[in-house]
Amino acid sequence: MLLQGKTALISGASRGIGRDIATKFAEHGAFVGINYNSSEKDAKQVLKIIEDKNGRGILLKGDIANLRDVENMVTTFVKEAHHIDILVNNAGIYVRNKFKDLPLESWRRVLDVNLNGCYNLCKCSLPFIPEGGRIIFISSQLAFKGSAHGADYATSKAGMLGLMRSLALELAPRKILVNAVAPGTIDTDIIAHYTKEMRKKREAEIPLGRLGKPEEIANVCLFLASHLSSYITGETINVNGGLYIH
Ligand code: NAD
Repeated sequence: MLLQGKTALISGASRGIGRDIATKFAEHGAFVGINYNSSEKDAKQVLKIIEDKNGRGILLKGDIANLRDVENMVTTFVKEAHHIDILVNNAGIYVRNKFKDLPLESWRRVLDVNLNGCYNLCKCSLPFIPEGGRIIFISSQLAFKGSAHGADYATSKAGMLGLMRSLALELAPRKILVNAVAPGTIDTDIIAHYTKEMRKKREAEIPLGRLGKPEEIANVCLFLASHLSSYITGETINVNGGLYIH
């Protein structure tokens, strides 16, 4: 039980990596805020999984790109949980487009969700994050490599790292630790556009020979959220099966 008595708000927790972070944190004793935007049914299912194992949590509906939504989510969470020990900036979107075909609206929406959503969540949560708290960002290997089919996505994920490092410096005096995880290719709905051939090709490129599992990202988040990471801040942990070694 690494998070006994802690409270954690996780954005985009209705499926994929966010769902595994929420269930893992709850298994370790945290009271979890399960944010979702549209998929209420999936979010309820996540809460049910948690409650079936005697864990505790709350559903938080809201579009993280919308500051008012995030204010409401945080208010609702804090009413129940009193503070936010751990904030996980997980929610994100990817739209496959070459830059030459990328419409301005799409560029803006990806940055609004993936990057400005982090601003909204950090800004609203910070007054409630106590000493010893944690902020975790789910970035991407593409923050380092760039992306020939997702300049907006790669830009947003690189921007997250700038915010992460800046907050790590600013919040160190308050003993709040701020870190990021940069996943490689993880088997979730975000890669639903992969054809069988694309998947095979990607698996062959990965030194460990397979895609990652959402739980493998959740495990690293658990480490970063727990006392085990007490001397780490401003760091990015790459979890990519060797696909991109720095
Ligand atoms: P996913 O599509 O399964 O999950 C994304 C989650 O974010 C969903 O629950 C979705 O409802 C939520 N979301 C999207 N827009 C939202 C909004 N405006 N407000 C609130 N919630 C919103 O994908 P995933 O793979 O689980 O992705 C989780 C995070 O991991 C994302 O930030 C993604 O960029 C990142 N990531 C994923 C991979 C991968 O290969 N799966 C690789 C690198 C980084």
